[in-house]
Parts: sequence; C-alpha cells; structure tokens
Amino acid sequence: MTEPTILIPAASPTGSLPEAEARAHLLDPDADLTGWLAVRGHPAWRSRAILRWALARRAASFEAMTDQPAVLRRDLAAAFTIRSATVAVHDRAEDGTEKLLLALADGQRIECVLLRGGGDPAAGDDDGESRTERITACISSQVGCAMGCVFCASGIDGVVRNLTAGEILEQLVHLTALLPADERISHVVVMGMGEPLANLDRLLVALERTQDREGFGISPRRITISTVGLPAALDRLSAARPGYHLAVSLHAADDALRTRLVPVNRSIGLDAVMAAADRYWEASGRRLTFEYVLLGGVNDAAEDARALVRLLGGRAALVNVIPYNAVAGMPWQEPSAASRERFLTVLREAGVNVQVRRRKGHRINAACGQLRRAAAQANQPSTVTNTSTAPRMPPSQTIQ
Ligand code: SAH
Repeated sequence: MTEPTILIPAASPTGSLPEAEARAHLLDPDADLTGWLAVRGHPAWRSRAILRWALARRAASFEAMTDQPAVLRRDLAAAFTIRSATVAVHDRAEDGTEKLLLALADGQRIECVLLRGGGDPAAGDDDGESRTERITACISSQVGCAMGCVFCASGIDGVVRNLTAGEILEQLVHLTALLPADERISHVVVMGMGEPLANLDRLLVALERTQDREGFGISPRRITISTVGLPAALDRLSAARPGYHLAVSLHAADDALRTRLVPVNRSIGLDAVMAAADRYWEASGRRLTFEYVLLGGVNDAAEDARALVRLLGGRAALVNVIPYNAVAGMPWQEPSAASRERFLTVLREAGVNVQVRRRKGHRINAACGQLRRAAAQANQPSTVTNTSTAPRMPPSQTIQ
C-alpha cells in the first residue's frame, strides 16, 4: 500500500518563515536563555531543564515542558523557537538510511543524514562498540561550500553562508526525532554540506553542546570532523579542542592532481596539509583518517596508490577509500571493481591500514549536496514522504 505524500507549505519567496522571525533560536548561544530567565526572576537551573526538554526529551514545543510553570512556558513560546528549520524533504532508503532536507528560517536548504549500523570507519572505531548498535548523524556546517571540489554537489554554486551554532545543533534534533524513544544518536560526523573548518567557531560551540548530558551526551571520541585541510584553522582546532576524530580529505597524492580535484589546494599544497594533520595528531594522540574518493580513470591507477603510500610515509593512519557516488550531470565515473581492487591491493601490500566506505543510502542522494541540488533542479514543492514508503526520488535523480 502506498502512503500519501504529505504536502507542507514551502517557505515564502524571500525564504522567511514569518512566525519564526521575531523569536530567538533556543539552541543558539546568542539566545542567552539563562540571562532571559534571570531578568524574569527565574533560577538558572531552569535553563538546563528547558534545554533538557528540547534536546534529550525531544519536546517539540514549550507547551510540552509540563514540569515548568504555565506562564513561563507561554512567555518562552513568545520569545524563542525550539526549531528554526522545517523538514522540506524526508527520504528513507531500504538500508535504513534517512535523509532530511531542512528549510532554514531564511529559506536556505541544508541536508543531514541518519545512518544505522555499519557507521563510518572514519567515526572512530576504537571504542569497542558493536557497529550494529551505531546510529550516526551526518551534519552540515555551511549552506553550500567554497572549496570547489570538482566532483562534489555541495560546492557547485559556491558557499551561501555559514550555519549558526543553533542550526548545526538543530540537525541533531530533527534526526533524533526520526528515532524511536529508546534509540539515540551515538556518533556524529561533520561530513554534510560545507567545509567545517571554514566555520570553526560556530562548529565548536555546537559540538561542545553536542556533548552536554542535558542534550545528546555524545563524547568527542565519537565525533568526526572531515576537512579538506585548512592549515591555520586546523592549528586552531589543535589548540582549542584536539579531542575530536579528524578525517582529512586528500583525494590525490600529488599537488597537480589534487589541485585539479580540490581547487583550494592550489594555495595550500599537500605538504602544508600533511604537516597540519601531523600537528593535530600530536595534539590529539588519536589516529588520523585520510579520505580518498576514487574517481574512475582519474585517481584510481596503481601509480596513484603508490603515490599515496609515499605521501603517507609510514604514518599510522587509516585510509578511508570512498567509491565515487555519481552526481547527475557531472562527468566523473565510479571506479571499476578491478581498478578499485588494484588500488586497495597496492595500499594493503604496503602495510597501509585501509577501509572502503560502505555505500549507504546512495539511492536517496546521500552524498554531499546531492539532495539539495536535485530538489532545486526539480523545483519541487516542499514535501514530506511518509517513512514507511519506498524512497521518493526527485525527478532529476538518476538511480544507480
Ligand atoms: N568539506 C569536508 C566535508 C565534505 S563531505 C571535506 O572536504 O572533507 C565528506 C567527504 O565526502 C569528503 O571527503 C568529500 O570529498 C566526499 N564527497 C563529496 N561528494 C562525494 C561524492 N559524490 N561521492 C563520494 N564522496 C564524496
């Protein structure tokens, strides 16, 4: 039986959601809930209780915070929003992967994904936890991306803006709402749209709060930041918070090819990326992950693998090989099974610790920026598909 598609109102042409405009976003530190409560004579502990309701207890409204005084709940509802974004598209793949396209208060759209089981090898495999228990949230840090990686759908139109700390955190609220009451997010990977280190200050605030016991209670060991490797920002991260798992996107082991695939490399260079990654490793003591998207006929030759072995130079790192997830309209190909195996064999025989990222949710545009792009191209109204139905494909999607 096919469940109906539920239509919800799209954002207005200017992109604003009128009733949200005047109110502060509860999850943004600028909202200063504690200060707001103090001015009204409420004790500071109420701030923790209210955040606990909004995050751990999944309250969608202040009205639901039943142990708080009714007048306070009413005043809170007039001053704050718990969720500033609405779900524009909700897709679910057969493997349980769910993807949300969120419409932000200004009408911009971002993606976040919930992955069950297997998780991502980049998300720290050193905690002894069974992979089947894993529930990983993949979140965005920016609207669009300025890095310009030629194969990635997120950066095609450049970066629009940074997300606020509240918008980064709110993605976890929406993804948690997809889970039954007895399940929670166990891991977070900042591998959605955007370059996390280009929005480091807000990201750090959001990730700090991700660890709150009143909220999601996720330890930094289970949080992975994926970056193209911006050395100055990486050094700031090393100094400020070296506890997170770091994944550096290489995609090529020589500067000429990397600059072609990751244009921001032109002004940085691999030596500087590797040196900054080493400094992070020294500060954190945690094994680094290097990501390498395999593009058929571009960076998947045995010689490319040998160059990667030389670049790694015996570092005790994990290489996460990601078969390319084809983006409609882009010229890049997935690697053939033979070239992928050859690439992996060269790495393994050289003693490199290598893992192939399992494909999850590729039928629902799960790679960075694909869903947002497909939805924009199809110019579709905002929709929510019932999660019990098969994934709904935007018309422009090519099913692999
Ligand atoms: N800006 C960060 C986060 C990007 S998303 C970074 O560059 O690391 C995480 C990873 O997915 C990156 O390595 C990115 O290059 C890769 N990626 C992007 N589009 C992809 C696609 N279509 N198929 C496979 N991997 C992709």
